[in-house]
Amino acid sequence: MKIKTSIQGYPRIGEQREWKRNLESFWKGEKTEAEFEQEMKDIRLERLKQLQKAGLDYIPVGDFSYYDHMLDTAVMFDIIPARFADSQPGSALDTYFSMARGTKGAGACEMTKWFNTNYHYIVPEIEEGWVPKVAHNKPLADYLEAKESLGIEGKPVLVGPYTFLKLSKGFPEAEFSRYLDILLSLYAKVISELTEAGASVIQIDEPALVQAETEAEFHLAKQAYENLANLVPDASLLLQTYFESVDHVKTLLQFPVKGIGLDLVHGKERNLQQLRQEQIPAGKVIALGVVDGRNVWKTDLEAQKHLLQQLEPGFAEAEEVWIQSSCSLLHSPVSLKQEVNLPAELKSGLAFAEEKLEELQLLKNNYANTVDSSWEDHQSSLKKFRETYQKLEKNEEVRMAMRPVPFSERQSVQEKKWRLPLLPTTTIGSFPQTQEMRQARTAFRKGSLSTLHYERMVKDKIADWVRIQEEIGLDVLVHGEFERNDMVEFFGEKLDGFAVTRNGWVQSYGSRCVKPPIIYTDVTFAEPMTVKETAYAQTLTKKPVKGMLTGPVTILNWSFERTDVPKQTTAFQIAQALQEEVKALEEAGIEMIQIDEPALREGLPLKQEDHCYYLDWAVNSFRASAEKVKDTTQIHTHMCYSEFHDIIDSISAMDADVISIETSRSHGELIEVFENNVYDKGIGLGVYDIHSPRIPEAEEMQEIITKSLGVLPAKLFWVNPDCGLKTRTEEETVAALKNMQAAAEQARNAL
Ligand code: GLN
Ligand code: ZN
Repeated sequence: MKIKTSIQGYPRIGEQREWKRNLESFWKGEKTEAEFEQEMKDIRLERLKQLQKAGLDYIPVGDFSYYDHMLDTAVMFDIIPARFADSQPGSALDTYFSMARGTKGAGACEMTKWFNTNYHYIVPEIEEGWVPKVAHNKPLADYLEAKESLGIEGKPVLVGPYTFLKLSKGFPEAEFSRYLDILLSLYAKVISELTEAGASVIQIDEPALVQAETEAEFHLAKQAYENLANLVPDASLLLQTYFESVDHVKTLLQFPVKGIGLDLVHGKERNLQQLRQEQIPAGKVIALGVVDGRNVWKTDLEAQKHLLQQLEPGFAEAEEVWIQSSCSLLHSPVSLKQEVNLPAELKSGLAFAEEKLEELQLLKNNYANTVDSSWEDHQSSLKKFRETYQKLEKNEEVRMAMRPVPFSERQSVQEKKWRLPLLPTTTIGSFPQTQEMRQARTAFRKGSLSTLHYERMVKDKIADWVRIQEEIGLDVLVHGEFERNDMVEFFGEKLDGFAVTRNGWVQSYGSRCVKPPIIYTDVTFAEPMTVKETAYAQTLTKKPVKGMLTGPVTILNWSFERTDVPKQTTAFQIAQALQEEVKALEEAGIEMIQIDEPALREGLPLKQEDHCYYLDWAVNSFRASAEKVKDTTQIHTHMCYSEFHDIIDSISAMDADVISIETSRSHGELIEVFENNVYDKGIGLGVYDIHSPRIPEAEEMQEIITKSLGVLPAKLFWVNPDCGLKTRTEEETVAALKNMQAAAEQARNAL
């Protein structure tokens, strides 16, 4: 068996996020275009050198991007919405960034999540007036650069036509096939130029195939690849899938391509089951994702070696077997080198992108016989990690959680307790995080600002904003979340069982990176996390102050989770820890508590058939966090999106007394959902968009309220912005909230 190593892509951001800094300083106008491009080139080549040094057999080129690979592909095919062409006399680079970030005359293209990751791509808009052409063969430029500068025979990486079109919008859906054909002719040009330039294999990513659950969809994709093969008969394509299993591996093996790539980490069982029944056709390449590309754990190489050995009989005729990461390493933090503060036993169980490259090399070199002593080192440090942390101490059964008294009965006791006016006004939690506050937090963390001083600053901010909220006249106040850097990392730092890294950044969108905490052992409550600030705020006002927590599902989905423990077990553990926080808040007199779950929906599995199971445990975990409160305690939750029609029953099953959701950008659709479904609990439809600096007029918001009252009973309806306000300025926030309060009061009077 001829084993080769490969990866589908590598982080762009650089070891110290130099990529991010370069982008941001260019956007600020601190760099010329030439300086910016030169710096990007340096980063790109540095990264390639590293891959070369790691000994990879197939080095990806073309996956590097200035913003996003979907945007790169759209621009490559000149898919540029007219609003940018018209308003932009500037350079191609200006247009590119305008599409990503918007410009004065033209709003940015939509951005959305890349499958079930936390990476966001720019949604291509294929307009009627689009003139299909290859404007610039970027993969070719990258391929040639790697060859000429470093002598690397790279493996160009493309987003495949099926996936690209599936993720695009703007064209009539009924014409999918026609647009696919048009795209194929463009892909053919890009691919033939690459082939002529010497590319011996081209990776073509089709992650959307894991969601092609019907034979018909699969057939459409197969047809496309047959057409492509006719257009470029000499090209050698490696069709890559990832993030889940493919439903029809047998059919995939019949696609007229050089090789196929399967994920053997995510969707492992289903992919394996099918693969075991197949014989790889003679001369084909089979690429297997055996190292997790989107989590932080060391690979059990011994186990993966056995897996490969078991599969080997089916590979007898294969030309090559590639071992690789399960998906692009774009979704992994860059390097463990910086992590000097992690406990040694924990660190011995981790592998970031750089270390994953070493794992692939080790597996290749020691497949037949163990020749490297580092193989033993690798396995024994993994063993040490497992011995220290693997055993769950608190492995109690996940059980059904439920408040003992149903909402219908809680409602009346809560009405009596809270005595709120109709259409009560509130906010979602955070108030503007000023530069000053952020700098203070950094200084506090570095030790150059004392705890006393820092906490004094937080308290002052809280006091300012309690006063502002009272002046505006809001009915339910919040403390403002000034002490939090991030809604998940904050809890990760305080709960036991989590580790926070120094430099474990992963690109989320554009230059924005996130640093997910790592859940490495039992999650338990250590000490109250939010009580001090919330209770302080409550001492300053007679109005209720709403406590503010992040929910168990969101904490799990935005962390690196354990893979040897079922997700629902971890979620339930987090829920139990939060339950103690809820209790501590209640004891401190905070009896209205919001538990945010903005990431509940995005955790939905890629395959439809897995949705039910996920929703069941996710909803149950949420309920577990609030299960033990008094009947009079009012539990709120918040989600930042409005696509609810398909999961409305689950949202209802969360059993929150009040839910607040995003609606300002799509309230029409959402109101329809409530018209057609019975949602009988309190609901706050966000009446204005906090993502925009625009100050909405009271009349606008009043109109939304009036419309909503057409489908929702007044006594269930709350008035609030559609998300937290931390990214807005103080002036914008005060002005918008004043208008919101006026709108609510006018609507109240009109009732
Ligand atoms: N309470 C959080 C805030 O206001 C909610 C953030 C979110 O929904 N993403 O910032
Ligand atoms: Zn939100």
